Amino acid sequence: MKTQKSRRLFEEAQKYLCGGVNSPVRAFKAVGMTPLFIERAQGSKIYDVDGNEYIDYVGSWGPMILGHSHPEVVAGLKNAVERGTSYGAPTPLEVELAREITEAFPSMEQVRMVNSGTEAAMGAIRLARGYTGRDRVIKFEGCYHGHADTLLVKAGSGATTFGIPDSKGVPRDFAQNTLTATFNDLQSVEVLVRDHGEEIACIIVEPIAGNMGVVPPEEGFLEGLRAICDERRIVLIFDEVITGFRVSYGGAQALYRVRPDVTCLGKVIGGGLPVGAFGGKREIMERLAPSGDVYQAGTLSGNPLAMTAGLITIRLLQQGGVYEQLARRSDYLCNGVREIASEGTLPFTCNQVGPMFTFFFSEGPVRDYATAKRSDTDLFSRFFSGMLSRSIYIAPSQFESLFLSLAHTDDDLDRTLEACRSAIREMSS
Ligand code: PMP
Repeated sequence: MKTQKSRRLFEEAQKYLCGGVNSPVRAFKAVGMTPLFIERAQGSKIYDVDGNEYIDYVGSWGPMILGHSHPEVVAGLKNAVERGTSYGAPTPLEVELAREITEAFPSMEQVRMVNSGTEAAMGAIRLARGYTGRDRVIKFEGCYHGHADTLLVKAGSGATTFGIPDSKGVPRDFAQNTLTATFNDLQSVEVLVRDHGEEIACIIVEPIAGNMGVVPPEEGFLEGLRAICDERRIVLIFDEVITGFRVSYGGAQALYRVRPDVTCLGKVIGGGLPVGAFGGKREIMERLAPSGDVYQAGTLSGNPLAMTAGLITIRLLQQGGVYEQLARRSDYLCNGVREIASEGTLPFTCNQVGPMFTFFFSEGPVRDYATAKRSDTDLFSRFFSGMLSRSIYIAPSQFESLFLSLAHTDDDLDRTLEACRSAIREMSS
């Protein structure tokens, strides 16, 4: 496989872009390689600058649920762009998209559009703090909610430790307001609430974790969080930036039937354009400016191109059978990979919820960050490079979700399984 042009571009990129990329994981550092530069994408395939075609399971990290360059999205965008790309004023489109979101997510009585998942989580936290008059936040180790100061924190060690920044540049004082609990472990939350209950503004959680690899919530976990929040007047925030309109039309909250107070969305609702949103109970949302006293704003928020791509995407997802098709194909792929792995001797666990899944190279079960980290990342790197050389593009890091789109065909899946069989055989020899 020729990759000269990508390599040359990466060298050039490093002169002008810090680390040669605009988001760290794209640099392929975790797998010890250099990134492919992408020229175009269509359906389930992406094409690099050297002319290689890959079956794509990254899907821009989640938004591309319809596949790339869906003809209706492209046509809608062409039409929209003729009418101007940004007005900084209200538009009918943002009202329509907000209405669709509130209908899909009954817990979201009102919505605020923003430009990224980071902004959505940051806004939701500020709102929860403003609403409760409390400062502390509980998050879960291994969950990612974007790169706002409060959220770039995980536990030092053990659930009762005050947060330590994950990044230089985050003041210790900020991080101290973030307490970290263990995913799927209600007791770790109860301890924090027992000691700091009156100071805790919100619990923020990915209802299905996607950023330590896919880790589903165990029975009772989300319900338990709901009960704790109800008892202590804590705002429960579901970060459904990945799972919203992905695992079901109504997200993880519809799948598990647990109603958060505030929800963060992103990815799918922008159809591949930069977008985010947060929303929740009217009583809480009304605290946001201009109705209330919690400030939040954005020059490009509700951007007409992003709203157009999002609306068209969501409407196409309203067609019957869409999520069943995604689940059926995803089951086929994941079961196939499980079977291939079981024939060999490598440790292997596949975690999957509908069209989001992760292959871990450990015996499992993978149920939290500690067990996710047991995966053999050297094996993952070899798997990644084995798949890439067989024209399958998966996320270049162990701790990510892979995504299936409606554009993936049965033939794509069979080709992927074939590549997987041969990559795993190579790794075992
Ligand atoms: N929340 C979750 C659950 C995410 O997965 C991500 C990004 N992958 C974010 C928030 C941040 O979104 P963005 O990258 O659009 O800022």
